[in-house]
Amino acid sequence: MPDDCLFCRIVAGQIPAERVHETGQVLAFLDIMQASRGHTLVVPKVHAASLLDLPDQAAAGLFGAVKVVMGKIDRALSPLAFNVGWNHGQAAGQHVFHLHVHVLPRFTPGGPGVQALGISEGDGGDRLRLAALAEAIRSA
Ligand code: AMP
Ligand code: ZN
Repeated sequence: MPDDCLFCRIVAGQIPAERVHETGQVLAFLDIMQASRGHTLVVPKVHAASLLDLPDQAAAGLFGAVKVVMGKIDRALSPLAFNVGWNHGQAAGQHVFHLHVHVLPRFTPGGPGVQALGISEGDGGDRLRLAALAEAIRSA
């Protein structure tokens, strides 16, 4: 694990995060800047800067976890829709170089599409509210 990787440190429990789902291979936690309510990041536990660096055998688990997390958010928050995807590379807006899939529930009809990965439908999250949100999703 690279010492300077933020998401490796979250996986290791060295930095707090509001965890909503976890398997042996994958961790999902709330994005600290909630672009929409319930905005969640799904990350492989193994360090990989991008999907192209992720061992093949970890890719299926990651995708399966994305599906589980979407189901939990759907049951907990009943969004109208989702944007799901990731920024691959700095020029595409990737800031944290540990692969992470953004799961963005959407609540406003007629909102913009894929560019939603870079826009905000919500607000930054305070810790107490994030903790309650994480509990609702985790237990859904
Ligand atoms: P990207 O720009 O696609 O690399 O996304 C990085 C995401 O990580 C952003 O949406 C940030 O809000 C989020 N983020 C940064 N630090 C933390 C943290 N400590 N806990 C949870 N999410 C974070
Ligand atoms: Zn990492």
